[in-house]
Amino acid sequence: MLPARVLVIEDDPAIGSELAEALTGNGYDAVLTVTGEEALAEAQRRAPDLVLLDLGLPDVDGVAVCRRIRAVYPHTVIVVLTARSQEFEVVVALDAGADDYLTKPFRLTELMARLRAHLRRQASAPEDRTLSVGRLRLDLAARRAYVRDVELPLRPKEFDLLSALATRAGEMVAREQLMEEVWDVNWFGSTKTLDVHVSALRRKLGEYGEDPSRITTLRGRGYRYET
Ligand code: CA
Repeated sequence: MLPARVLVIEDDPAIGSELAEALTGNGYDAVLTVTGEEALAEAQRRAPDLVLLDLGLPDVDGVAVCRRIRAVYPHTVIVVLTARSQEFEVVVALDAGADDYLTKPFRLTELMARLRAHLRRQASAPEDRTLSVGRLRLDLAARRAYVRDVELPLRPKEFDLLSALATRAGEMVAREQLMEEVWDVNWFGSTKTLDVHVSALRRKLGEYGEDPSRITTLRGRGYRYET
């Protein structure tokens, strides 16, 4: 069995590296991120089994991060880490889809025991990482896209781009962010390749019975997948 993929979202470098080290030492495949945006990009890239989420992040509200991850991954275990002063936020986070929480400072042995328990429960639940927007359905685990149950013939980057847009349906995704998430680069040059891929996606959506204008261009800024 592959090691469980754990995404750690923690801006305190001491706590973050301690967590990442402990997780790796316990056989998990752990990735540490320090901002909400970075974490969401990483979550989109590799479908975590488990997320450790610090609620107090420098850029975005931890609860919003929780909600976004939950919207895409109904079965990912989300454990919220919170400072005593933020305890009131725990209720909000649980309502936003978190499974559990720990108040800092916590003992690593307790954290590890809880993670094992959550993962055991998760393993006995049926696998479902699908997302539906309009007639489009994405199977994020299998990396396949369907319109009315007919599979779209997508290239890997086209799938990545479509899932980057569809997982944030209704929101604008900036060009730079798409370049970074899909092509893994901080892009300073031409982003023509992005437009070429969007054209290909629109054409394929149209050919397979979805409205190509689901993907809206926000000129010079980004794209939005319409709900
Ligand atoms: Ca923090």
